[in-house]
Amino acid sequence: MTEPTNLPENSSLNVRSLPKVSLHDHLDGGLRPATIVELAAAVGHTLPSTDPAGLAEWFRESADSGSLPRYLETFDHTIAVMQTRESLIRVAREFVEDLAADGVVYAEVRWAPEQHVRAGLSLDEAVEAVQAGIEEGVANTEAAGSFIQVGQLITAMRHADRAMEIAELAVRHRDSGAVGFDIAGPEDGFPPSRFKDAFTYLAENQFPATVHAGEAAGIESIVDALVHGRALRLGHGVRIAEDIDVEFEDSGTQDEPEVGIVSMGRVASWVRDRGIALEVCPSSNLQTGAVASFGEDIETHPIDLLYQTGFAVTVNTDNRLMSSVTLTGEFELLMDTFDYDLDDVLELTMNAVNAAFLPLDERAALSAYVTEGFNRARG
Ligand SMILES: [Zn+2]
Repeated sequence: MTEPTNLPENSSLNVRSLPKVSLHDHLDGGLRPATIVELAAAVGHTLPSTDPAGLAEWFRESADSGSLPRYLETFDHTIAVMQTRESLIRVAREFVEDLAADGVVYAEVRWAPEQHVRAGLSLDEAVEAVQAGIEEGVANTEAAGSFIQVGQLITAMRHADRAMEIAELAVRHRDSGAVGFDIAGPEDGFPPSRFKDAFTYLAENQFPATVHAGEAAGIESIVDALVHGRALRLGHGVRIAEDIDVEFEDSGTQDEPEVGIVSMGRVASWVRDRGIALEVCPSSNLQTGAVASFGEDIETHPIDLLYQTGFAVTVNTDNRLMSSVTLTGEFELLMDTFDYDLDDVLELTMNAVNAAFLPLDERAALSAYVTEGFNRARG
């Protein structure tokens, strides 16, 4: 007699159907390959491949190559085809539709308007075009019997020194789609303290900011993001784990030979105790080397340590095209690696609900919607 196969507990769980929340997803990192091919042909931009499947593979390989210049080159191609009102509308609409198809019910999409004015659009026109695309995507999703809500995070590029202008742009659009501000680009050498005025302006206008920090640089960069960036969330933030010590001691029992004794540094304690959300992007973190000091594989990614020690960890994709990932796939990766179950996925999702740049009443409504979806999945 053969033993019944012991299927892993999670195998029947349809993660795609669960209502999910995405807080860290770049517009210029999430295009459909076929759309890039069509838009590039229309503007005469030369691509590494004009075959959508070949182009998708080129993006994936470039992101995985371990070469930062090659990784950054991928954005040259996506940004080149996102310079007109029509192309921004299309890319934003498809972005929303793709998220909805992946089961995302609330998303904040980030992008840097200053990189989309080469063909003559003003910053405001660029934001309006993306908003029009988002609204089309939301309407199409609703027409198909589904639901998604999407806000814009207006990003300033750290090396461009236009943060004040971009902060003002974001605040100008606060009642028409912009829900927050972000800075991206080279973390090392361009700390938030360089843009103190912009962050002060945002704070004076009660406009929330998330800051890419703790990705390419460590604890000092996180402190700068909290102090000068007044960051309410940390973009990645994974290197906060460098401020946590884990020592293993023999437990004296055979089943659990070692127990970890965790001690937190002051910065790690602050981030954890104040509930400052970490926008963790597992696959991206491995590709960019953000977590290289912990190891090279998902097994050594500090997300589990951060989650188990009570940080407000959220799970995100960063750049779905470059990393060839979906939010569903990132959750499945964590479930396979760390044996997370439905309760863990719910807790990580609720962390994202609570950290969303939404008013309290809308967060409560989102929380109820997510809870209902998870309850349905439990059957
Ligand atoms: Zn990012």
